[in-house]
Amino acid sequence: MFMSISTTGTAESPASDLGFLLHKHPGKVQRFSTSHGEAHVFYPEAGDELCTAALLLDIDPIALVRKGRGKGRGGSPDFALAQYVNDRPYAASSLLAVALRTVFRTAMKGVCEARPGLAELPRPLRISLPAVPANGAGESGGPAMAARLFEPLGWQVEASAIPLDEAFPEWGESRYVRLELAGTEVRLADALQQLYVLLPVLDGAKHYWVAPDEVDKLLAAGAGWLADHPEQALIARRYLSRRWALTRRAMERLELARLAEADDREVEEIDNAVDDSVDDSADEAVDAAAEGTVGGAAAGDGRPEQPEPAAERKASLADQRRAAILAALGEVGAARVADLGCGQGELIGALLKDVRFTEVLGVDVSARALSAAARKLRLERMSERQAARVRLVQGALTYTDARLKGFDAAVLCEVIEHLDLPRLPALEYAVFGAARPSAVVVTTPNAEYNVRWESLPAGHVRHADHRFEWDRAQFRAWAERVAATYGYTAVVRPVGPEDAEVGAPTQLALFRIGTPPDAEPEPAPAPAPAPADVRALTVPTPTHPATHPANRPTTRTDATTTPEGGETR
Ligand code: SAH
Repeated sequence: MFMSISTTGTAESPASDLGFLLHKHPGKVQRFSTSHGEAHVFYPEAGDELCTAALLLDIDPIALVRKGRGKGRGGSPDFALAQYVNDRPYAASSLLAVALRTVFRTAMKGVCEARPGLAELPRPLRISLPAVPANGAGESGGPAMAARLFEPLGWQVEASAIPLDEAFPEWGESRYVRLELAGTEVRLADALQQLYVLLPVLDGAKHYWVAPDEVDKLLAAGAGWLADHPEQALIARRYLSRRWALTRRAMERLELARLAEADDREVEEIDNAVDDSVDDSADEAVDAAAEGTVGGAAAGDGRPEQPEPAAERKASLADQRRAAILAALGEVGAARVADLGCGQGELIGALLKDVRFTEVLGVDVSARALSAAARKLRLERMSERQAARVRLVQGALTYTDARLKGFDAAVLCEVIEHLDLPRLPALEYAVFGAARPSAVVVTTPNAEYNVRWESLPAGHVRHADHRFEWDRAQFRAWAERVAATYGYTAVVRPVGPEDAEVGAPTQLALFRIGTPPDAEPEPAPAPAPAPADVRALTVPTPTHPATHPANRPTTRTDATTTPEGGETR
């Protein structure tokens, strides 16, 4: 197996600096032992203008088999021979990736103690790999695959299929490609990390055991480029040798990285999932107050007669929101419920207190939120029977997930506003298109109400992590569009104390699968004390075509139960 890395330079910035970057002296031939054979590093050329470092990996195929890590271990007799007579010594593959990491470990980290700052400088690089296995047919193999993997990273890719035998062109092409990568402004460490991940991906077969910590390795090497790579799903899948559980874990963590990057924050910061929005700031009080009172509640409890109206108003909103969700779930007769973006599990706690809910799945992208939820729900100390009703799983809602299928209802309580708007369609598809529960309950803040929060400066969202907050017309337009797209009907209703001018602080949409029946069933009685809790929202929004009555075939509004009628604006 052979690979070379070349760079060009000038007298001021000589190409031979490559030796510092690689931590390998250009004047020496060096030999290293790797787990699969001997690696040799040498420089065919090392001048100011051009410098080339070569890595030659001398694989020992017999040792590979003896170690029991070779492909096809324990195969048929023919295959057993193939263990010894194979391409491993010649074709760059996952073994070369392992050697890269062994031999150039420091360079890969972007560290250059001898010349601080040098590793940070991008420079022209040319990488040549005379033979790389590129398994797969058509677009998912051969030169096309090489282009799909490297071009999005800014490489100019020259890849050509190697004929099976040059003397017999009619035999066609082999599964190997000659690969040349050229970049004008590349950090060497980035190039090495990319090769470390993408050579095995191109090969499509890992020649050593794929352990769970491969996810960590993939994400560490993919830092800074994999989260934005258009082929990241394919890369994760092939890198992890199609081990689906590991691939899923990688995709979830990439999603977290993307969420963090979009906000210019660290993953640890974004993985907070603390429910500290203004309207929920008194949640602990709510929790204390709600102990034992929420059980079985299908209607809200606004408790307007409580003292300290300001504090109580905040406390009762979180409470009312949960009550409104429970009421909506009761209306549709849901027994198996998925709480998507469950955070620290407040709603799950309420669901578990109600025997109608036989199975509750909590999903969140944040591992920290999930462990907080497990702690708060006292999962460890739950009776076996109670514990059998609840499951918490980590997952990114912007990816389809078979674990979410088959539920009576899914809840997205104060979740959608945590996604960047361009990611929202992915969640819509994953929930309404792929998981397809019979009903979906979505709550989100009503931005119009923000002027009523004394502590909220004008024009601000309620929570630092909110990517958007919608007014009533925007939320309704969204609900209508999603319902129409995925074959649901939607009703939108206010939650919390309603203001004549700006509406209620929270808005809730209840989606049911299927087109609207002719006669609407009576909605459940409105939870006290909000008489307008199931008020109709009938005003078409002039700014959005989807809200025109003619364009709203699958949306209905709740029957009006209040004298004020359906106008909420
Ligand atoms: N539903 C909870 C938490 C709301 S905070 C409650 O009402 O208390 C929003 C939650 O959504 C956070 O826990 C956050 O980690 C989660 N979240 C945000 N984006 C997500 C995504 N793409 N996939 C899964 N969960 C996500």
